Amino acid sequence: MSENKRGPMELTAWMYHYVRDPGDAAEAGSGIPGLPVARFTEQIDEMARHNQMLSWPQVRAALLEGRDLPPDGTLLTFDDGLCDHYLNVFPLLKERGLSGLFFALVRAPGDGLALGHKIHYLLAALGLAGLRAAVLSRLSPDQQALFRQVEARNQARFDPATPDGAIDLLKSVLQRELSAPAETVLSALIAEHVGDEISLAAALYLQPEQIREMAAGGMHFGGHSLTHPWFDFIDEEQQAREIDASAAWLAGVERGPWAFAYPYGGLNPRTPPLLAGRGFIAAFTTQARLTHPDPFYIGRLDGESLAALSAAEDHG
Ligand SMILES: [Zn+2]
Repeated sequence: MSENKRGPMELTAWMYHYVRDPGDAAEAGSGIPGLPVARFTEQIDEMARHNQMLSWPQVRAALLEGRDLPPDGTLLTFDDGLCDHYLNVFPLLKERGLSGLFFALVRAPGDGLALGHKIHYLLAALGLAGLRAAVLSRLSPDQQALFRQVEARNQARFDPATPDGAIDLLKSVLQRELSAPAETVLSALIAEHVGDEISLAAALYLQPEQIREMAAGGMHFGGHSLTHPWFDFIDEEQQAREIDASAAWLAGVERGPWAFAYPYGGLNPRTPPLLAGRGFIAAFTTQARLTHPDPFYIGRLDGESLAALSAAEDHG
């Protein structure tokens, strides 16, 4: 899409989701775990000591002008527009003069939870086996058969013998083939076991005034879709609707051209042209890479996996 002869872009982009401690205002008794705030603080201080911390406008300008970024250029990104980002991340970045790029979902007052977040609340409340059993008991016989068929097929990709693999396996079933019935069933389970979903969503996601305050404090925003679908699982028309929603929201929040982060890291070769035609100049994946030949597939490292490595080292 660009005319310049620049080589692949080098950028260390970090990806974060929940940044919270048990019992703090972000976790709010939900039991949903996250990267501990002290661990996050150590990470960004360590990064800032050794790297050139970049803001999204600096990356955007380099892309627009076909310039290279500094070889130690580092960008902090945060997915899903969570209250953690206002409550815990924004104050830490602001006091250090750092910026973050926040990929938020499009939200309207009265919206419920995204499917992935319903699963997080229910995993915390019921555990994996409890959630799986509760979902199955509420599906029709046809849906149960489909559930078991997809689950059996996906076992090749997600090893159910490991805790993370077993959770990813359940998610892979509920978020794709079963997503339509799962939305309804999971909302019913939230009402039964957790609480009022609209209130939970209002507390979990960034509110417009928080977004305005973060933007005024040097933070930047990107698109992450409306409903958080797998883009490799939905058709082009649905993808266009999801991207249009993000563009309409971003128009009031952030100077374009914008950045996008693929929900669940789901990739589809049809998506980049749709993004490019709707005001986006870059898109971020969940693939761990430091060199990015295509600005619509910028890889990111997961800050939580860094935390797990450092914790393992701490314990010998
Ligand atoms: Zn997401």
